[in-house]
Amino acid sequence: MIFVSNRQDMFKILPKVDNLLNSNKIIDLLKDIPRNVVVNTIRETIEGLRKDILSNNIELQQLKNMVNNIEDIISNKAQNKMEIKFKRVINATGTIIHTNLGRSLIDKEIMEYVVDVVTNYSNLEYNLLEGSRGLRYDHIEGIITRITGAEAALVVNNNAAAVMLVLNTMAKDKEVIVSRGELVEIGGSFRVPDVMEQSGAKLIDVGTTNKTHLKDYTNGIGEETGALLKVHTSNYRILGFTKSVSIEELVKIGEKFEIPVIEDIGSGVLVDLEKYGIEHEPTVKESIESGIDIVTFSGDKLLGGPQAGIIVGKKKYIDKMKKNPLTRALRVDKFTIATLELILRLYLDEEKAIKKIPTLKMLTMSIEEVSLKANILSNKIIDKLTGKINVKIVDGFSQVGGGALPLEKIPTKLIELVSNDLTASEIERRLRKESIPVVVRVFKDKIYIDLRTVKEDEFDIIVYELERVLSNHHIKGF
Ligand SMILES: *Cc1c(COP(=O)(O)O)cnc(C)c1O
Repeated sequence: MIFVSNRQDMFKILPKVDNLLNSNKIIDLLKDIPRNVVVNTIRETIEGLRKDILSNNIELQQLKNMVNNIEDIISNKAQNKMEIKFKRVINATGTIIHTNLGRSLIDKEIMEYVVDVVTNYSNLEYNLLEGSRGLRYDHIEGIITRITGAEAALVVNNNAAAVMLVLNTMAKDKEVIVSRGELVEIGGSFRVPDVMEQSGAKLIDVGTTNKTHLKDYTNGIGEETGALLKVHTSNYRILGFTKSVSIEELVKIGEKFEIPVIEDIGSGVLVDLEKYGIEHEPTVKESIESGIDIVTFSGDKLLGGPQAGIIVGKKKYIDKMKKNPLTRALRVDKFTIATLELILRLYLDEEKAIKKIPTLKMLTMSIEEVSLKANILSNKIIDKLTGKINVKIVDGFSQVGGGALPLEKIPTKLIELVSNDLTASEIERRLRKESIPVVVRVFKDKIYIDLRTVKEDEFDIIVYELERVLSNHHIKGF
C-alpha cells in the first residue's frame, strides 16, 4: 500500500514537458521527427506514469528508473509512431495463398505498368473512341468473357461483395435454396447464412450435412424461390458417406422451374490444374459451360491477381447488377482494374500465365527446382553461420492456402534449423521483428524454411537476418 504522502513525492519527480523538450536527446530527436509527434509522445508518457502512481501500479524505485531513462523511452515510442506499419515480409511458411500474409503476389513488371497508369491521368471512366463518358468496368469485361466463355462480367471489391450483390439483385425478399453441406464459413468472417441475410434474401437450407439429393432441392422450391445457390466447399471436404448435386443437375432443375442458378466457386481457377499434377479444382469455364446463370469468384486466390470479386454469367442478370446502387458502394478502384486487366491478359497464353503469375508459378514449381533453391540457401547459411546453427535439408509438404484445395499436400524441401543457444520459438519471434520480417514454421522446437514460397532474391536477407538474430544485434531499446 502506498501512502498519500509517498504519492506526492512520486508526482514531484515526474519531469516537465518543457524541460524534456530542452534536453539534448530530445533536441536530437526533433531533427528527424515532427515536433507535434514528439510533444504528444512526451505528454502520453508522463500521463501514463501519473496514472500508474494514482493506481498504485508503480513503486518509487521503479519510477526513478523510468524517469532516469525517460528520453530513451520517449525516443523509442516516437520512432515507433513514425515507422510504416504495413510492409513486405518473407513468407517461409510454404503456404502459397497465405491470407494473413497478403494472399497472391503480383509480378513486378505488371506493377510497373500499373504505376504508369496511376501516376498519370487515365481513361478510367472515359471512352476514348467516342470522346464521352465511359464505364470503369468496360476495360475488363471483354477479357473476362473471352477467358471464361461467359456472356457478361462485372468486378467488385471481393468475392464476399460479389455474392452479396448477386443475391441482392436476383433474390432480395425471396428464398434462396442451399445445401446444408455447403453453408461455408471462410476465415475472416465470411459465412453464407450471414451474407445471405445482409443481401435481403432468405436462406432455405435443404438436405443434410453429408447428403443432399436432387429431390431435396425440388422439394424446397416454392412460390417464393428466387434462386438456387451452390457454394464450393473451398476450405473443407465432406468425405465418406456423401452425396451432393452437380452443377449440371442443378442447372436442369433451374431450367425446368425457371429459377436462376448461382454458384460461388470460391477460388476462380482459370486453368486446369490437373495438367500440373494438382487435384482437380472446378474451373470457371466448366461452370459456365454447364449453362449456369451466374458464377462468382475471388481475384486473389488461385487466379493470382489483386483482391477482387468477379461475377460472370448471363447478360440479363449482370445488366441488372450494374444498375444496382450497391454496385457503386462495392466498386473497385483503378489500381485493381489496371492490375486485374494485365493479369487476365496473361491467361490468353496459359504457359505465360503459369510462368508470370507468382501464385501459379509457386504452385507448379517442380521438386527439383525447390531442391536446387534449398541447396543454395543452405550453403549460404552454412557459409556465414557455421558453428552457430545446425542446418539440414529435409522433405516436407507445402499447402495451397487461401481456403483452396485443403487436402492437397505439395511435396517440398525444407531447411531445418536448430540452435544450441536459442529455442526455436525465440528465433521465430526475433525473425518476425527484423526490418524485413521472416515468417517461418516451427515444429517440435525446430525452425523450418519452406523454399517453395521463398524467392532467390530473399536468400541474402534471410542469411543477414539470421546472423543478427543469432548474435543478439536485433535487441532494440526497450
Ligand atoms: C474465399 C471465398 C469467399 C470469400 O472471398 P473473398 O474474395 O475473400 O471475399 C467466398 N466464398 C467462397 C466459397 C470462398 O472460397
